Amino acid sequence: MIELLRLQKLDMQIATLKAAEIELPNQKNKYAIRRERLAAEVKNSEERCKRLLVEQREIASDIEMRQAQMAKYNEQLFAVKKNEEYKALLYEIDLIKKQIAVKEERAIALMIEHDDAKAAFEADKERIQGELDAIDAECAKIDKELEALIAERKALIKSRPPIAEKVDKGLLARYERVRKVRTPAVVPLNEEVCGGCFMTVRPQIVNEIMANEKIHACQHCGRLLYYLGNIGDAGASIVAESA
Ligand SMILES: [Zn+2]
Repeated sequence: MIELLRLQKLDMQIATLKAAEIELPNQKNKYAIRRERLAAEVKNSEERCKRLLVEQREIASDIEMRQAQMAKYNEQLFAVKKNEEYKALLYEIDLIKKQIAVKEERAIALMIEHDDAKAAFEADKERIQGELDAIDAECAKIDKELEALIAERKALIKSRPPIAEKVDKGLLARYERVRKVRTPAVVPLNEEVCGGCFMTVRPQIVNEIMANEKIHACQHCGRLLYYLGNIGDAGASIVAESA
């Protein structure tokens, strides 16, 4: 029974490692989401710069257009003969001058805004690159942990046959059958209750288990039962370590 408990402990360690191997890569998912978020942040910052640049160009060409219009009006001033027309032209010129002044003010504000946005973009890029590097490092750490888990599990699997060999063949076959459907497959009998399904075991079977005459399975769940008083300190410590 002690050899079987030792084997079960090993099998449970292998199963725990296997579960961790499946779970561990999931930790990388949250990093993938963060990576996307950071990429979007850089893109936003860059697009803000681009938008401001486009607006700057638009305003520059707008000013140019108005200046050309003003030059035309100025030429026309020489050609007009009537006083009203002259006055009307002066009014238009004055109006266009004011419009140009407003646009030029906006152009200066835009230039400053663009410079600020560009500086912010450069800073964002640097900060986000730092965060991405940290994420890469975390992912590399996870990969390394995963590698270690796999190596550990392989080593445990390699150590299994000599341990299994020490278990009585018939008992080993029963254990293998049960563990396909129930883990742990070997459980203690507590008072008269199965340590796996917590159902009461028949008194006669309890007696036989306690007398260490025969290895019985629980009639309810099929798990193999042992009595803690029969496995000694060595068995007890294996059980304690398996928990
Ligand atoms: Zn049971």
